[in-house]
Amino acid sequence: MRKLIGVTSEYRHYTNKKSLEVNNTYIRAVERAGGFPIIIPILEDKENIDIYLDLIDGLVLTGGADILPSLFGEDPMKETTSICLDRDMMELKLVEKAIERNIPILGVCRGLQVINVALGGNLYQDIPKQVAGAHGHVSIESVFTGYHDIKIEKDSFLYEIFNKDKLLVNSLHHQAVKDLGEGLKVSAKSNDGIIEAIEGLDKPIYCVQFHPEALAEKKEEFLNIFKFFINNL
Ligand code: MN
Repeated sequence: MRKLIGVTSEYRHYTNKKSLEVNNTYIRAVERAGGFPIIIPILEDKENIDIYLDLIDGLVLTGGADILPSLFGEDPMKETTSICLDRDMMELKLVEKAIERNIPILGVCRGLQVINVALGGNLYQDIPKQVAGAHGHVSIESVFTGYHDIKIEKDSFLYEIFNKDKLLVNSLHHQAVKDLGEGLKVSAKSNDGIIEAIEGLDKPIYCVQFHPEALAEKKEEFLNIFKFFINNL
């Protein structure tokens, strides 16, 4: 029996309509890793979240827009512009309920940030403005090949998967974890000290700030993050 993997989605706004969208690389990564992807819409009725959670074995929180800073107690900096409050509220509830049920979560990019905020942590709203000496963290051109190295902690899920302490990853984020949420630990950082992966201390939570679903298109080894997640369900 294939494991059913919930994959979160986002809105795409057009002049005359609002569509639901998932980058297909997430779907491909879940499928190629042996899972069965189920796209989770941005639900209005919170009871419907429970029905989705009844269905799925694991949850992939995908990337996307910035989280509303008010949700971690801050006013927005002018660099924080792309916001979708409906998605923020729904995903925070989804994460809270998934953790309650002990459903494993793989958070990618924004997904990592949502989990951190859901567990009481906060974010740098803009790395270039707030972190002195930080190197580049946004390169669309290298999304399939990699942009900066990360240092992987020995006692982490990433070390278990890659069995090495240095890894070249892509980077498409201007925000990052500032203070860690409850029950989380750092799994990897970039050389400038930005947190690039976190995981649950005693809960099945695995998060990366980079995009393994994109890297997996060109570099098979990154599919192992999805295989690790799905095989351990
Ligand atoms: Mn980065």
